Amino acid sequence: PRTVGVLALQGDFREHREMLEAMGHRAIEIRKPAQLEGIDALIIPGGESTTIARLILSNGFQQPLRDFCASGKPTWGTCAGAILLAQEVDRLDRPGIEVMAIRVRRNAFGRQVDSFEEEIAIDGIEGGPFRAVFIRAPVIERVDPPARAIARLEDGTVVAARQGNLLATSFHPELTHDPRLHAYFLAMGAPQGAAK
Ligand code: GLN
Repeated sequence: PRTVGVLALQGDFREHREMLEAMGHRAIEIRKPAQLEGIDALIIPGGESTTIARLILSNGFQQPLRDFCASGKPTWGTCAGAILLAQEVDRLDRPGIEVMAIRVRRNAFGRQVDSFEEEIAIDGIEGGPFRAVFIRAPVIERVDPPARAIARLEDGTVVAARQGNLLATSFHPELTHDPRLHAYFLAMGAPQGAAK
């Protein structure tokens, strides 16, 4: 089992914690930068990216989160979390963590489509399509190396990207009961051949 932190400033951190615990891992709600010391991997949940960005700054999390991402440990942003990992975002009134070479557009599906679900294929995920839940979701408009797109909607819109130990998804895998993407994420940090 791994010890996985879930940034718990705002948003749906509880659902990630429940998924991780159901998989047999230890999940820790991270509210203070010092808690980043003891974890093997970190999830930045969905929620409201402007609010989370504000709380990151006011709680002294910005540099510690950048350092965590640079440490090589798996770090995953879902929805608002993906917005915070992006180096470029339209309309975010303050800086996020800005570590992935992606450009993200917030609320990109428009107000008339607040939420929807689609079965998608994800590179590296076997066993059939993955049911992706989108809620006021961003799209990944541009992916520059070393980041690469790993999932698209039928129309080609990029909804997941990976850059080494960093993962960004526009959708919410913690809201379904499919643990495959959480397992993929945790394996991003596994040494070659190590037991998971
Ligand atoms: N619309 C939100 C934002 O821009 C993200 C929504 C979500 O995380 N489900 O921050």
